[in-house]
Amino acid sequence: MDCLFCKIINKEIPSNIIYEDKQILAFDDIDPKAPIHKLIIPKKHITTTNDLQANDGSLIGAMLILATDLAKKLDIAEPGYRMVMNCNADGGQAVYHIHLHLLGGRSLHWPPG
Ligand code: AMP
Ligand code: ZN
Repeated sequence: MDCLFCKIINKEIPSNIIYEDKQILAFDDIDPKAPIHKLIIPKKHITTTNDLQANDGSLIGAMLILATDLAKKLDIAEPGYRMVMNCNADGGQAVYHIHLHLLGGRSLHWPPG
């Protein structure tokens, strides 16, 4: 499958990996939109959040918990941070392998431009 994030998982494309286990990978976003910008992805290829199944709940939960754990380790838990998952064109999804953005380190305004 021609998927950028599957290639990162398979180490065919380099990335700065900050966490890895059997089902999840986390790495630095290559074009950070904030001083801290990490991506948390499942190792299983899931194209969009529309493709999530009921039995993916524990996987998505583990991604969320990992993001909060990283936020604490990166000292952005107290000042605050944003977690985002974009879906399809109107959601601004550019890479079609689901990913959770963890953004922080500055004041983030809402709604985004
Ligand atoms: P989205 O728009 O939600 O699909 O987000 C895709 C994200 O992937 C963007 O923030 C990109 O900067 C990031 N990205 C694209 N290519 C790479 C790469 N090779 N390594 C790390 N992050 C990437
Ligand atoms: Zn993939």
